[in-house]
Amino acid sequence: MTVHFHEEDLPAGVLAPGPIAVDTETMGLITPRDRLCVVQISDGKGDEHLVRFAPGSDYAAPNLRAVLADPERLKLYHFGRFDIAAIKHYMGVVAAPVYCTKIASRLIRTYTDRHGLKELVRELLGQDISKQQQSSDWGNPVLSDAQKDYAASDVRFLHALKAELDKRLVREGRMELAQACFDFLPHRAELDLAGWPEIDIFAHM
Ligand code: MN
Repeated sequence: MTVHFHEEDLPAGVLAPGPIAVDTETMGLITPRDRLCVVQISDGKGDEHLVRFAPGSDYAAPNLRAVLADPERLKLYHFGRFDIAAIKHYMGVVAAPVYCTKIASRLIRTYTDRHGLKELVRELLGQDISKQQQSSDWGNPVLSDAQKDYAASDVRFLHALKAELDKRLVREGRMELAQACFDFLPHRAELDLAGWPEIDIFAHM
């Protein structure tokens, strides 16, 4: 289990084939204003890769971009709506096909309104992750060890979560509905970027 830190791109050939867990850290929640600072990737085999972008980066990152845009690779997110929008806006690629553990959780854990990553990892995997660094300065030229470990922990459990969530989606007969939601997610992110961020276009009012 190692956290690998890279500047401006992922090295070629560091990921095993198959689904990859993806997360991002930014300067804030308003995508066009708050630049993309870090992209985290894990192939689920135990290591995590952090790719950090400097201020003024052109986000060329050909290796990372190829992995994110690869239609053969499923991308696992927790609240992918935000990450997909950030990656689209800054890197110009739609990082799909998509699986989102938050959407899966909402479709099956109907007995709770707690769908945060920390809560999911605790309930489904019996592990504890810290969210202390969530609101830290991701633009700092030197990221602390605590920041790096936090960033890595956000992709560390997504493969295991998917396995547990899939069992429950099958059990409750909601796999097909979940898949339809995952397929729509890049379009929901596009609506965020295009000017409908907090507007539900399906709502009556
Ligand atoms: Mn994160």
